[in-house]
Amino acid sequence: TKDTEACAGCGVKLQTEQQDKLGYVPEQALNRTPVICQRCFRIKNYNEVSGTTLNQDDFLKLLSHVGSTKSLVVNIVDIFDFEGSLISGLSRFVGDNPVVLAVNKIDLLPKVTNFNKIVNWVRKQAKEFGLKVVEVVLCSAKQNMGFDRVIQALDEYRDGRDIYVVGATNVGKSTLINRLIRDYSDLDAELTTSHYPGTTLDLVKIPMDDGTFIIDTPGIVYPHRLTELVSKQDLGKLMPDRPLKPLVFQLNEHQTIFFGSYVRFDFVQGERQSFTFYVSNAIPAHRTKLERADELYAEHKGVMLAPPTLEALEQLPKLAKHPVRIPKGKIYDVSISGLGWVKVNSDVGADLMIHVPKGIKVAVRESMI
Ligand code: GDP
Repeated sequence: TKDTEACAGCGVKLQTEQQDKLGYVPEQALNRTPVICQRCFRIKNYNEVSGTTLNQDDFLKLLSHVGSTKSLVVNIVDIFDFEGSLISGLSRFVGDNPVVLAVNKIDLLPKVTNFNKIVNWVRKQAKEFGLKVVEVVLCSAKQNMGFDRVIQALDEYRDGRDIYVVGATNVGKSTLINRLIRDYSDLDAELTTSHYPGTTLDLVKIPMDDGTFIIDTPGIVYPHRLTELVSKQDLGKLMPDRPLKPLVFQLNEHQTIFFGSYVRFDFVQGERQSFTFYVSNAIPAHRTKLERADELYAEHKGVMLAPPTLEALEQLPKLAKHPVRIPKGKIYDVSISGLGWVKVNSDVGADLMIHVPKGIKVAVRESMI
């Protein structure tokens, strides 16, 4: 049957059952010649790439050969979830190849942001993380900002190399790749994506006019990101869609802020001070006394403390506590992967307790803004 045939575009085995899996082709499209999978169909007809995903280990396996090639790697990260979207182990597999770090979604930062400062901050964070990059470019795939700089950086380091585009899910990789295809290839080009030989995995090689390839890699799923654990609908609330309006709270010790039922922030001990929350405004904040917080949560989770709904909350891991000690002498952020971050505005120190669904990454970093 046609079901066992391979896609004429990428070589993956065709199937008609599961739309979200590789090789899917709608039943009625089997009569076309050549038969190509829906993904190749989209690339051909709309110049659009839609993502597939992998976990980090499989991703690194899939790309283990990159170190022995002469390539250029573009790593896209999300400024709204910087720690959560960094790829650990990236430096190991790229070998000596240059890495351009494209920091996407900068349209979300407040309008008054000093972007030079952000670039320096990103450089420093990347270095601390052990990631060596030749260039940091801030961009917004959505607002079409900074792309000229991305293209410029790629041209500078390309030198006949293939370009691997890597990133966690939801960082804006598809948007960027589609932009690259438009810039580097002829829109009417024949479908020539070819499946990576010898594997059934999903690297999509997109031929450019100069004979090199842009290689689209699966988005990496990190379960430590809150955005991976929620429904599509709630994802739309967690991810801000306009510049962040930071929320400032003057807090005394023993006060608590809830963000929906997703996260609870306790100011356990320290001088009265202000905290700035960079969280999507679709997630309402509720303030209460620390001694009231357990009770409030028990009574109002999923209803007054929403999103998520009670039903959706049951799908999430239970809240787990992360004690955080902010030292004196410097301004820090506490980042909560997928929710945003909290800037601790004074340098007098504070003891915090951050409650997040178990497994979600909480990190303390030098303040970004
Ligand atoms: P991929 O999963 O990495 O391929 O990411 P997509 O390109 O599908 O984008 C994921 C989500 O992020 C979508 O909801 C996009 O609308 C959103 N997004 C992508 N780029 C930007 C950006 O520059 N700014 C903002 N605010 N959102 C973006």
